[in-house]
Amino acid sequence: MNIVVWCTSPSGDSLLTKIDERTYIIDTMSVGRPGVVAAYLIHGKENALIDMGYASSSPTVLKDVEASEASAEGVHYLLPTHVHLDHSGACAAIAHHFANAAIRVHPKGERHLVDPTMLWEGATKLFGAELMQLYGKPQALNGNRVKAIYDNEKIMLGNGLVLRCIWTPGHASHHLSYELEGTGSIFTGDAVGIKYPAFPVLIPTTPPTSFNLEAAITSLQRLKQLRPKRLLTPHFGVIPDAVSSIDANIQSLHDWIARIREMVRSGSSSELIVSNLTEETRHEIAGFNGDVPDYVRLSIKVSVLGAIGYMEHAERHLGT
Ligand SMILES: [Zn+2]
Repeated sequence: MNIVVWCTSPSGDSLLTKIDERTYIIDTMSVGRPGVVAAYLIHGKENALIDMGYASSSPTVLKDVEASEASAEGVHYLLPTHVHLDHSGACAAIAHHFANAAIRVHPKGERHLVDPTMLWEGATKLFGAELMQLYGKPQALNGNRVKAIYDNEKIMLGNGLVLRCIWTPGHASHHLSYELEGTGSIFTGDAVGIKYPAFPVLIPTTPPTSFNLEAAITSLQRLKQLRPKRLLTPHFGVIPDAVSSIDANIQSLHDWIARIREMVRSGSSSELIVSNLTEETRHEIAGFNGDVPDYVRLSIKVSVLGAIGYMEHAERHLGT
C-alpha cells in the first residue's frame, strides 16, 4: 500500500511527501525551485537521510525533518551518495544540527567533506561564481564524524530496516547507492539519469571529472540484478518501473556518448554540442513549445563537458 501525505511548509509549498510506511521524499527546493534536487528520509528506530541537497537548502531540509515522524528522534545517519554539492552541500549544516549523527561516505569522498575547498573550487570553475553563491558554500566537517562506508556494508536502522551500501561508480568514481533490503527500494543517487517532472526527458548524468562509461553501465547492471521494484532518484522522484528504467538508462548512456563522439569527430565545439543536444532534447517532448528551463540546460552542459572529458581521457589512455 502506498501512503502519500503532503505536508505543507509555512510558505505554502509542499516539500515533504510520505511515499510509503517508512520513507519520505524531501524536495530540497534547489535555488528555490521544486522538482530538481530530492533527499530521502528513512524512518526506522533510527533515521537516515540519503542525500541532502545544496548548502543553501539546509534550512528547508531541516524544516522537513522537523515536520516528519522522525522529528522526535532526529537523524542518526547522514548518507550522501557522493560528494557533489547537490548531494552533500548541506551535510555539515545538518550534521551540526544533529550532533550525534554519523556521516558515512565512500572512502574517496571522506577528505572532501572534511575540507570542501577542492570541491568548491572545482564546482566554481564549472558553474561560475554567481550560481555558486546561490548553491551556498558547504561548511567543513570535523574528521572524527566522517567514516568511510564500504561495498555491501549494512546500516541497521531497527524495526527490521536494513540499508545496504552498493558501490556504483560511473557518475563519479566514489559514487554509491543504497538498497533498503527486502523492500525493493533502491536509492540510486546519480547512478541513473535525470528526469525532471517539469521536463520529463531522460538526460544522462555524465559530469566532469571522473565519469566513466564502462563503470556506469556495470553499476546499472548490478542494480538491475537486484530486481528492484522502485528507484528513488535525486533528480527527481520515485520511478516505479525500476527494471525497464534501468534498461532505458543503459541505452541512453550508449546513445548519448555515441552522439557526442560523432559531433566531436565532426569538429563541433562543446558549445555547439550543448546547443544541438538541448534542441534535440526539447523535441523529445511532444508539443513542447516553451523555453528549456535553465536547470535543464545546465544539466545538459555539465553532462556534455563530462562526456567529452571522458572521451579525451579514454583516447589518451589508448595512446590514440
Ligand atoms: Zn546530482
